[in-house]
Amino acid sequence: MSEQINPVTFDAERVRADFPILNQEVNGHPLVYLDNAATTQKPRAVIQAIVDYYEHDNSNVHRGAHALADRATEKFEGARVKVANFINAPQARQVIWTRGTTEGINLVASSWGRSNLKAGDRILVSAMEHHSNIVPWQLIAEEKGASVEPVPVLEDGSIDLDAFAAMLDERVRLVACGHVSNALGTINPVQDVVRMAHAVGALALIDGAQAVGHWAVDVQALDCDFYVFSSHKLFGPTGLGVLYGKESLLDAMPPYQGGGEMIESVSFAGTTFNQLPYKFEAGTPDIAGVIGLGAAVDYLQSMDRAGAAVHEAALLSYAEERAKATPGIRIVGTAQQKTSVMSFLLEGAHPNDVGLLLDQQGVAVRTGNHCAQPIMEQFGISGTVRASFSFYNTRADVDRLFEALDKARQFLV
Ligand code: PLP
Repeated sequence: MSEQINPVTFDAERVRADFPILNQEVNGHPLVYLDNAATTQKPRAVIQAIVDYYEHDNSNVHRGAHALADRATEKFEGARVKVANFINAPQARQVIWTRGTTEGINLVASSWGRSNLKAGDRILVSAMEHHSNIVPWQLIAEEKGASVEPVPVLEDGSIDLDAFAAMLDERVRLVACGHVSNALGTINPVQDVVRMAHAVGALALIDGAQAVGHWAVDVQALDCDFYVFSSHKLFGPTGLGVLYGKESLLDAMPPYQGGGEMIESVSFAGTTFNQLPYKFEAGTPDIAGVIGLGAAVDYLQSMDRAGAAVHEAALLSYAEERAKATPGIRIVGTAQQKTSVMSFLLEGAHPNDVGLLLDQQGVAVRTGNHCAQPIMEQFGISGTVRASFSFYNTRADVDRLFEALDKARQFLV
C-alpha cells in the first residue's frame, strides 16, 4: 500500500534464505513457488520454535502442576499477546484461537448468529467471498429464516459501493467482507464497508486471510466487530487461526463448543463458563501451532514489512505488465487496489492444463475456482490460473513463470 513505501531496504534474496523449502528442485527445475495465497512457506525460525517446543517444553497448558506445563503455558499465552499486538487488539483476551479462518467465521455464525438472528434478518456478503465466508452464513440463515445476499462486484473486480449503500437497511444485521480477495487480489475498502454497516446498526466481520501476510492490520483503526485469519497464510503452521472480536460482543456470545477448558465449573445442576478467551477454546489447543505462530509474528515484526509490501507491489505490477505484453493472456481482476494475486487465463487452454505444464517446469501455481465459485460464475468462467506472490519471490520468479507459460503454450494452443 502506497503509504508504506520504503523501496531501499528490502532484500528479497536475503529473506529467501530464511525459507529452507524454497531451496529445492521440482521436476528437475529450481522451485518457483507462486501459490502463496493458498499457503505461505515457513521461515526456519517458525520450524525451529516448533522443534524446540517438542524437544524441551511439550506439556498441556493451563494445568500447571509442573515446570514443563508452566513453560508451555507461558509460551502459549505469550503468543496470544504477540498476536494481539500484531493486529493492535486492545487486549489479548480478544484473540481467540481457532483452527483457521473457516472456523473463526463458523464460530461467529453459530454463536452470534444463533443467539441474535431472527426471521427476516439480512446478512450481506460481497459476491467475491471465499466459500468459507458464504456457506456458514447460509447455514445459520436457513436455520433462522434470515437471508444471505450478495453485494455486487463491478467488472474490474472491485466491490460496488453504490449498490452496497442501496442494499443497506435496518434489517441488515451483519456484513461479511474479505479484506483481500483470494481469487482476484482486490483490496476491498473495508474501512468504508465497516462504517457503512455500522451506520444501519449492522455488525461487520472482515475476513483477513489474504491481508495479514502483506501489511500491518490494525483492527481498532478498521473498527471491525470481528476479524479472522489463518496462521498458515501468515508464515505459521496449518490448523490454526485467529478470531478477533470486540470485547462486549465476545462477552455476550454463548460458547461455540463444550468441553474442558471452556468451563468455570460443571455440575449436573448447571454448568458455568470460563471467561474470554477460554470460553471459546474447548479442549486441548494446538499448542505447538500457537507457539509457531508466535515465532512467525516475531519474524515478521523483525523485518522491514513496509519494504516487503513495496517489493510485493512491484512484483505484481511487473507480472501484470508482462501479462499485458503477452498475447493471449487475460487477467481476471483488474481493480485499482490489488495485492499479490494475478489470476489469469491463457486463451484456448484449460487452467488445469496450464497448471500441470507449469508444475512440470518447477513453477507452482494454483488453478481452479479458488473456492470462490460465485465470482467465477459472474465472470462466466469456471476458474483461472492464479500466481500469488510473497515477499520472498523475485523478478526472476516472474520471469520463470512467463518462460514456462511460453513453453506451455506450445503444447496447448
Ligand atoms: N478466506 C479467504 C479469503 C481465503 O483465501 C481462505 C483460504 O484460501 C479462507 C478464507 C479459508 O482459510 P482456511 O482454509 O485457512 O480456513
